Amino acid sequence: MWKKRKDFRTRCFKNFRVPISEEKNKIMITGTHINYYHVCARKLWLFANGIQMEHTSELVGEGKLIHEFAYPQRSEKYSEIELDGIKIDYYDAKNKIVHEIKKSDKAEEAHRWQVKYYLFVLEKKGITGVKAVLEYPTLRLREEIELQKEDRMYLQKIMEEIETICGQETMPPRAVKKICRTCSYYDFCWSGEES
Ligand code: SF4
Repeated sequence: MWKKRKDFRTRCFKNFRVPISEEKNKIMITGTHINYYHVCARKLWLFANGIQMEHTSELVGEGKLIHEFAYPQRSEKYSEIELDGIKIDYYDAKNKIVHEIKKSDKAEEAHRWQVKYYLFVLEKKGITGVKAVLEYPTLRLREEIELQKEDRMYLQKIMEEIETICGQETMPPRAVKKICRTCSYYDFCWSGEES
């Protein structure tokens, strides 16, 4: 088992041999970059360099199911927006509210910054006065989010840091293992280690 995983890890490393600094100018920062920045620098780097784990697609599928079953009528009511790297599934244009649904069983700071980034990008494109609602169907929780003045400065700052992390030649160190347990890169980072 260890050998197989080790092989897989080697394949992953081969895959990312795309020149990072010469071919990439500025990356298109998405909500996922912002989210991962708040979780783990290594996760951000792996994602930005195109290394994704197989079961990521299953998680995406699970997320879609929650979207469909929790809010079956929603697609008809709201618009989908794709703009400057961000993708908003449910935008209530009439009330200027971004709805972001999370399948997670806990509210996380990373989710808040992800939606704040959506508001930030919308604002930069002239769509102002927008608020967001984070929704956790499994927790039956809703959280309203607004973009504050200091948030804009913070986002500007971390966008530069994200550029730096993603452009590094080497992978950042692992996070604290507790964070890793629900991460799709868990096997990649911890295979062969005692759990
Ligand atoms: S498993 Fe842990 S160290 Fe590896 S990417 Fe995920 S959070 Fe980061």
